[in-house]
Amino acid sequence: GALPADPLDLAQPRTVQGAMYSFCVPTPVAAPRLLHWSAECAALLGLGALPVDAQAAAEVFAGNRLLTGSQPYATCYGGHQFGNWAGQLGDGRATLLGTVIGADGLRLEVQLKGAGLTPYSRHADGRAVLRSSIREYLCSEAMHHLGVPTTRALCLVGTGEAVLRDMFYDGRAREEPGAIVTRVAESFLRFGHYQLPAAREDLGLLRQLVDYTITTHFPQLGSPSQEVYLAWFREVCERTALLMAHWLRVGFVHGVMNTDNLSVLGLTIDYGPYGWLDAFEPGFTPNTTDRGGRYAYAEQARVAGWNLSCLANALLPLVGDIGALERCLDAYGEAFERHYLAMLRDKLGLPQEGPEQPDFELVSGLFACFATVDTDMTIFYRALARMNADTEREAALQILAPAFYAEPSTQAREAFADWLGAWQARIATAPEVAAARVARMNAANPWLIPRNWLAQNAIKAAEAGDLSVLERLMTAIRQPYTEQPEFADLADRRPDWARNEPGCSA
Ligand code: AMP
Ligand code: MG
Ligand code: MG
Repeated sequence: GALPADPLDLAQPRTVQGAMYSFCVPTPVAAPRLLHWSAECAALLGLGALPVDAQAAAEVFAGNRLLTGSQPYATCYGGHQFGNWAGQLGDGRATLLGTVIGADGLRLEVQLKGAGLTPYSRHADGRAVLRSSIREYLCSEAMHHLGVPTTRALCLVGTGEAVLRDMFYDGRAREEPGAIVTRVAESFLRFGHYQLPAAREDLGLLRQLVDYTITTHFPQLGSPSQEVYLAWFREVCERTALLMAHWLRVGFVHGVMNTDNLSVLGLTIDYGPYGWLDAFEPGFTPNTTDRGGRYAYAEQARVAGWNLSCLANALLPLVGDIGALERCLDAYGEAFERHYLAMLRDKLGLPQEGPEQPDFELVSGLFACFATVDTDMTIFYRALARMNADTEREAALQILAPAFYAEPSTQAREAFADWLGAWQARIATAPEVAAARVARMNAANPWLIPRNWLAQNAIKAAEAGDLSVLERLMTAIRQPYTEQPEFADLADRRPDWARNEPGCSA
């Protein structure tokens, strides 16, 4: 890029060669205000359930005040966006404050998202709006409580500044309140971090990064060598497989599975235009710019495999054995199938042992039923756990009724009744006692997920200055597998008004 006008302006957007990060400080904001604080994430860091001084916390986590010893930086990565190599991307609006050794000795990185320009901001402003910040904050904490590997979020701070955004629905610019989310993770390293030095044929830097990754985050694999590089890639494949199975289990759609948005630690990272399945729709994507459905719900495991093959390509010069990398990719597919089948068996209360084929048939039979009438996936599985081997047909359909978005046709009712008969026949022969089966089902099937319409209600209220809706949702999502009568309205079907509301990012 062009030489920065002021060579000391470290935040000047530029091409960064031969380095994985650049020092850059957050840009102070006008009026920082603490909007929410996650007690669980705070505990991880050895902080209290509430900050001692909310205003001081707001200033620190807005980037207005630096903690002693903090030397903030933004990292350099590239990536494939929608299948195309995009070159250098980097942390365009995320600034790492540093690493904290947490309460149990865990090493945690603390990052501000929306803290202003970095060398990687390209043509954008380095800021985030309250809307997208609430979405990220809410969902990362919800994912944790759902048992899905994820980056965490410590707090949400309002900046007191307006941020200008082009609206995707009319292309007009609109001012929105700005906010900053403090993200926390063992590491924010993405596939794209390895792809960029590989694409630039900077093998020294690539090796340095992989060695750092292994010694810091995968020390159990041993000290770096060609063999250990391969073992590390195998581990990334295994973690990614588990993550994809979890996403499908809870009905999560990431929405932007570009290679810069996949974590080498197997964490859910970068909550943008993500969404949740309300009705079970395999082709659903919340991302309105993804017209081909590349990142649709049911494509996610396949596309993660494609992303892993990009990472394999980047690592080839270090590993030197293309066949060995290909075997890891095959193992990825097998690991995904294994994890997904195990989770589906828990969801349906089927025994974990036994031949796979009949279970796959039962699952595809169920998905065929879902195609006959819009069926809420989350409500369906919880309803199924309320049936047993001898629930009568009409009673069973009655239990399922709250899961349907429309009156099921006679054919749909027949399809579900037949399927339930097959399911009942299967569980009737299982040795497991009913209470154990129900417990296993309810531990795999969330009662509550942070659906898009719930986030939108919380955002609308927060934009009008009322944080109580977000607060209530944050409380409810702490126990997503427990039926909480006082939060029954949050576990309901998507209301009609929210039908075509897309997930939104920016
Ligand atoms: P995403 O699609 O959100 O993963 O972002 C892709 C790239 O754009 C990343 O390098 C981001 O850091 C960057 N980016 C997104 N939004 C902004 C923004 N408002 N300011 C600066 N960079 C951004
Ligand atoms: Mg990203
Ligand atoms: Mg993003």
